[in-house]
Amino acid sequence: MSANVGERNPHEIALENFDRAADALGLSADVREMIKYPERVLTVTVPVRMADGQIHRFEGHRVQHSTIRGPAKGGIRYHPNVTLDEVKALATWMTWKCSVVNIPFGGGKGGVTCSPKEMSQDELERMTRRYTSAILPLIGPQQDIPAPDVYTNSQTMAWIMDTYSMTKGFPIPGVVTGKPISLGGSLGRNEATARGVFYTTQSACEHLKLALNGSKAVVQGFGNAGSIAAQLLHRAQSNVIAVSDSRACIYNKKGLDIPKLMAHKEKTGAVKGFPGAEIIKPEELLAMECDILVPAALENAIGSQNAGKVRTKIIAEAANGPLTPEADKILEKKGVFIIPDILCNAGGVTVSYFEWVQNEQHLFWEEQDIYNRLEKIMKRAFAEVLKIRIERKQMMRTAANMVGVGRVADAVKLRGLFP
Ligand code: NAD
Repeated sequence: MSANVGERNPHEIALENFDRAADALGLSADVREMIKYPERVLTVTVPVRMADGQIHRFEGHRVQHSTIRGPAKGGIRYHPNVTLDEVKALATWMTWKCSVVNIPFGGGKGGVTCSPKEMSQDELERMTRRYTSAILPLIGPQQDIPAPDVYTNSQTMAWIMDTYSMTKGFPIPGVVTGKPISLGGSLGRNEATARGVFYTTQSACEHLKLALNGSKAVVQGFGNAGSIAAQLLHRAQSNVIAVSDSRACIYNKKGLDIPKLMAHKEKTGAVKGFPGAEIIKPEELLAMECDILVPAALENAIGSQNAGKVRTKIIAEAANGPLTPEADKILEKKGVFIIPDILCNAGGVTVSYFEWVQNEQHLFWEEQDIYNRLEKIMKRAFAEVLKIRIERKQMMRTAANMVGVGRVADAVKLRGLFP
């Protein structure tokens, strides 16, 4: 459960953050016009026969924000609140994210407005296949490569890969990443986002001279990114004192036993009812005194109404867009160190890139090899962003956007993309 403030349109926020970075970089109006807006936007109707025999019409989108530095890359979200503006924002962030970690992709995103928790596996499979065929003209291993996002997973990717391959007559694993291992998925992809969050949090702790061992952490959202980030923090002897999912927030001042909590969530489908933990309100979770706060649910979790109450030293943005620009300003003033989403959660797309490379090469890498490469990329990107923050006296978010936007702006100029 969250205190989602829902106060801002995420696409407006993405454009505002872009402008701030573009101003700091001194980008010309021509370059801004070329890289600011999505290149392609597709909205599709997805008719699905439901278990009761009725046809239900879902609406879906696929947005390619940029293909300047490589194929569009980005996840597919199934959620009742998916809107075209949300998908545009997420696609925009993907462009800067791939650029911050310097992998050869542009940015894309997709989504279907639906309530996946109320749908059967069969309904989800039919919807996924129909959505895939509707966005087929856009996707492909050299054009646009989807991956999982909120309420989609490796099974969803397997259905997309199969539907796409059926139209070609042979298997094409490289059309999606985040696949099951037996279908060409990469070792380590499942924990990649959380590992990236962990590696950048380690770097932030080093910078702030804060010991991870014995620190207090709070995690909002206990899905793929949040639960594994909690597990990695727990393994590093950080006390994860509170976590939440869409139904409840739980707290134990001595620290939650995260492996046992993961088993509880796996068994019951929720964090609620975990022995030894008390239930708290969503607004209490975000205001809890701690060293590391990991928002790992949805956008706009912290805005102008609740930013003043946040009491943490570090915010590690596992989620995309959890802070509004108003919250950024309030938290910066309070001295909170923010690891912005396009840097913090870039581990997922980085290992997606490794998966795509392995699919293209038909050669698979060892798990430890993947983690070593990931750690190197994440820590290098963190150091690059931190350097700009210090030298140019910018907020971490603006510094990260300056790295991301700057590289795309260079690519536009080098390609000579002006008429
Ligand atoms: P997920 O579907 O696995 O988990 C989402 C979690 O958030 C669930 O535990 C759900 O119960 C919880 N949640 C939903 N609404 C909530 C609310 N209002 N308050 C509290 N918790 C709530 O999704 P995920 O893949 O872990 O994605 C989470 C965030 O991380 C999203 O912003 C996503 O875009 C971002 N992200 C994910 C990846 C990835 O590889 N999975 C990569 C980059 C960024």
